[in-house]
Amino acid sequence: MVIVKTAREISKMMDACRISANALRVAGEYVKPGITTYEIDEKVREYIEKQGAVPSFLGYGGFPASACISVNNVVIHGIPSKEQVLKEGDIVSVDVGAFYEGFHGDNAYTYACGKVSESAQKLMDATRISLEKGIEAALAGNRVGDIGNAVQTYVEARGYSVVRDFVGHGVGAKLHEDPSIPNFGKAGRGVRLLPGMTIAIEPMVCEGTYKVDVLDDDWTTVTDDGKLAAHYENTVAITPDGPKIMTVAG
Ligand code: MG
Repeated sequence: MVIVKTAREISKMMDACRISANALRVAGEYVKPGITTYEIDEKVREYIEKQGAVPSFLGYGGFPASACISVNNVVIHGIPSKEQVLKEGDIVSVDVGAFYEGFHGDNAYTYACGKVSESAQKLMDATRISLEKGIEAALAGNRVGDIGNAVQTYVEARGYSVVRDFVGHGVGAKLHEDPSIPNFGKAGRGVRLLPGMTIAIEPMVCEGTYKVDVLDDDWTTVTDDGKLAAHYENTVAITPDGPKIMTVAG
């Protein structure tokens, strides 16, 4: 069931989204060669808890950390680890959400660790811009397929692929709400976007094949061919005045 929020609920939800965006920025500040993904997760958790909020992912479905930290060929759901030391040239996707006063925010960003290769940078840029294209299509009266089509068209024109097995989602009082927001699809198809819907748009883009595997830990999701992947996400409200990005740091 698609949940439409009142303007008042959306303005309350902005707080959770701002905390989520700030937490993501905190993570980015710590992405440097030599740090472990565990240490970054600790900084994220400390920041969220200091705001009186709760890390949305901690314990969600049994997930053991506050942030998903996915390095290089890991697409999403990487588990922070004391064993995993970041090195120069890694691309590091951090996905983090915060729950505050009844609502969740959810966002992700792929950070460069030191200097990355030109090809990695191009993948990151294309993925980040594909999120912007998806957001631009998140207009009241459009359909979910318009978002997916905008992302897919941009990504595939650059020779990359869009993950099929994982998609964006509604977000609000629950971390995952209806509808699903695929990063692929046909324009004009799917659930109609209504003012008051709040959705997480999150393109997951691969250098090679879009096929992914989930490792034995039941979380870590890697590209089938071992090539790089990037992931960017914003929580967005559908409003009569157009899409409003809610996960804004400040
Ligand atoms: Mg999400």
